Amino acid sequence: MVATGSLAYCIICMANHDLDEFRSFNCGHCFCLPCIELMFTNENGSRKAHYDCPGCRARIQRKDEHRIYIEIVDQKKAFVECVVEGLDKMDADSKLISVKKAEGKIKTARDKAEGDQELMIQLYQAILSFKERIIPVFTEIESHHAELAALKLSLAQSQAHVSTLEKQAKRVSVLEREASRLRAELREMDNQREMALGLAESAKDEVMTAREKVDVHVKRASDLEKDKKRMADQLEVHMNAANRNKVKMKALKDQIKTINERLEAKEREVQEAQEASQRHDYSDFNEYDGYELQSSQHPAPSFSRNAHTVNPSHHHRQQHNENTGPSFAFEAMPQPGFEFGGSWGQPLPARGTITKVGVDGKSRIVKAGVTAMKNMVTSTTLAPANVLKKKNANGNALGFPISLDRKGKPIAPVQMGPKHTIRVKY
Ligand SMILES: [Zn+2]
Ligand SMILES: [Zn+2]
Repeated sequence: MVATGSLAYCIICMANHDLDEFRSFNCGHCFCLPCIELMFTNENGSRKAHYDCPGCRARIQRKDEHRIYIEIVDQKKAFVECVVEGLDKMDADSKLISVKKAEGKIKTARDKAEGDQELMIQLYQAILSFKERIIPVFTEIESHHAELAALKLSLAQSQAHVSTLEKQAKRVSVLEREASRLRAELREMDNQREMALGLAESAKDEVMTAREKVDVHVKRASDLEKDKKRMADQLEVHMNAANRNKVKMKALKDQIKTINERLEAKEREVQEAQEASQRHDYSDFNEYDGYELQSSQHPAPSFSRNAHTVNPSHHHRQQHNENTGPSFAFEAMPQPGFEFGGSWGQPLPARGTITKVGVDGKSRIVKAGVTAMKNMVTSTTLAPANVLKKKNANGNALGFPISLDRKGKPIAPVQMGPKHTIRVKY
């Protein structure tokens, strides 16, 4: 449809013509029909086949011309209709920038619709409609504000709650760490308990072993105690015996003392008798010249109980000599005053009749046979000094040169005679 009433401008004749009078060519330029008739007509009135476009100099031909079909719209009306359409579409979901721009657009539309009553009515109705639609939006916004405030309050409370929870969480975390630590400690303690139980078990075994050892030791100690008691008893018995022996010894000492006193009395008696005898019979002893006298100046056998030496020292002898005068060296010569009483050469006394007083002071009866024989032999034999070693207090030989058994028999071959010939002068 060709728009009617719409004008266009021709650049050749520089005048406005109705759009229906214009024709378009291949280059796109449009010209009015009168100008086109002039362009394709020569001066002689003949037709031109082609022509250079006055707009762009492109070759254009008369046969290419065609009509223009285009709808021309009123710009103001179109703008106002566009604004009305936008207002109608606007609602609560529209963008804020569109709403802000709407005011300016409405003002422009009002200016453009000036004088066009129909457009003004359209615009007014659109504004009213928009107002009706926008009020509920504000109401909703108000309610939204209230909701928002409530939500803010709730949020604040929630934040406070969250803060409390966070604090609690912190505490819980601390407690959890503590609990974890405690659990670890518990495990450690469990391990230690296990170890302690093991140790206690081994310690128990050791204690049992030690107890057994202690029992053994206690038993041993008890045995030792018994032994000790037994020893103490024995010691007491021995002490008693020793005490008794001491008493006995004392009695014996007393006895010895008594005997010594008696002996001294006897010695004095003997001395007196000897002196008397020397005074009376000294010449008689000289008849025994045949015996090998040790020496006339040798002392007589000592009667001192203390003379333990076999042969008294020379010093002693001299001392005795001074006191007692010359005497014989006969060992074991029966001394005057002894109970044997017999003199040399007399028959043997009857068995069991010889009594002697020993060094211990006790009287004893010697067996006549053996002892008398001994006496006989010793008295008739000049004993070598190294044979007769022991003498009693009186200088008498205690030992017999021949060893005898209990029955008086010699236990070794014996030469019964004197080794040296003794000549006796009568
Ligand atoms: Zn023209
Ligand atoms: Zn052109």
